[in-house]
Amino acid sequence: MTSTDTSTSSSSSPARRLLIVGPPGAGKGTQAVRIAEELAIPAISTGDIFRANVSGQTELGVLAKSYMDKGEYVPDSVTNDMVRSRLAEDDAQEGFLLDGYPRTLEQVEALDGMLAELGTDLDMVLLLVVETEAVIGRLVARGAEQGRSDDTEETIRHRLDVYAEQTAPLIDVYEKRGLVRRVDGMASIDEVTAALREALADR
Ligand code: AMP
Repeated sequence: MTSTDTSTSSSSSPARRLLIVGPPGAGKGTQAVRIAEELAIPAISTGDIFRANVSGQTELGVLAKSYMDKGEYVPDSVTNDMVRSRLAEDDAQEGFLLDGYPRTLEQVEALDGMLAELGTDLDMVLLLVVETEAVIGRLVARGAEQGRSDDTEETIRHRLDVYAEQTAPLIDVYEKRGLVRRVDGMASIDEVTAALREALADR
């Protein structure tokens, strides 16, 4: 190896380009905010960006809401463009924690392309492992607390089916790349954060 080797995937550099994956209700959002703060990187939640657009009644928000309320995914082209512009912002240049993206194989390919353009790659995929029936209870409670229109039991069950069908297969893709670290998402919030921290330290 010569001094001209500029590999960015050296195990000595901290993991900073991250995904957090798991079914709806696994606690991704809560954990993403905590972990991102510790690593001083932005937590980028596509769901939050869509919800902000829904509240702001933007064109994107009106479109997104028609899918979100049914528990369906917003079309890939729309979602990919949104993430591409978010990743181009200054605060994401030294790292990011993507929460809720990618969710389809097409989004995986799009993200690969975006990162290749930026001359970088993913460091790790954090997977929160939870029991389906338990997360339904969590989501129903969240719906009541936060008034989320996609947190009714019927929509929740549909979102879990969509996850199993369209998003769970992504885990295999990242598994083959050796990026996946599994963490028990059924533990307490603090325990899950601690386990994620441990996973991040173990590269
Ligand atoms: P979340 O807050 O991550 O559970 O996302 C809420 C909703 O936003 C999802 O059920 C989808 O309708 C939409 N959404 C969020 N992220 C994506 C994505 N990567 N692709 C398509 N739709 C998404």
